[in-house]
Amino acid sequence: VMTAEQAVTWVEKTNALIQSNKEYLTELDQAIGDGDHGLNMSRGFQEAEAKVSSSEYETVGGVFKDTATVLMSKIGGASGPLYGTAFLKMSMFLRDKPSVTQADFAEAVEEALNGMKQRGKAEQGEKTMIDVWHPVADFLKNGQNVNAGKLVEVAEQAMEGTKDTVATKGRAAYLQDRSKGHIDPGSTSSFYLFQALADVWE
Ligand code: ADP
Ligand code: MG
Ligand code: MG
Repeated sequence: VMTAEQAVTWVEKTNALIQSNKEYLTELDQAIGDGDHGLNMSRGFQEAEAKVSSSEYETVGGVFKDTATVLMSKIGGASGPLYGTAFLKMSMFLRDKPSVTQADFAEAVEEALNGMKQRGKAEQGEKTMIDVWHPVADFLKNGQNVNAGKLVEVAEQAMEGTKDTVATKGRAAYLQDRSKGHIDPGSTSSFYLFQALADVWE
């Protein structure tokens, strides 16, 4: 079960990981993009944390709705609309639920994934953040033995897996074969998001 309070903590913990890995995200994006992913994410999540930790919420959906609005307006680039869509879809799915079970949450993540895929027109295997969201959504949906340690493992392996693939979506796609050998920046920020989730998971 996730409470509104835990949803706020999730955003806070994600922000903490993003802030302390801002330079690393920048380096990853310098290698195969335009070098702004650290800045984009740190600005977006700083504002999102400021918003949700200073507001009162009755529902998880409410927390996610505000998070979506902030991310969409504060993160520039490709990742803003994608993370914004993810939180918006989760908020819409959970909107009327006073309490959120693990099964509800799993479905919300599935909705987020589908929204992002539609928004970015990307499928799994194109060296984007989808490569992390997809296996995490599958893992959560599976329902059995969903524990924090395994969640981190699934997300981390998926992130590392992007190193061996060639980008066919996003800026890195311009590099074609030269995008190989680098971990995708958006997969890494998504990994931080799920690492933070594991921290609030029960
Ligand atoms: P920009 O590329 O506009 O500078 P960012 O650097 O903030 O934006 O984000 C780049 C990340 O966005 C990539 O590493 C990738 O994970 C993700 N991304 C880019 N395009 C897409 C897409 N079409 N679908 C899904 N994710 C994408
Ligand atoms: Mg960039
Ligand atoms: Mg950019």
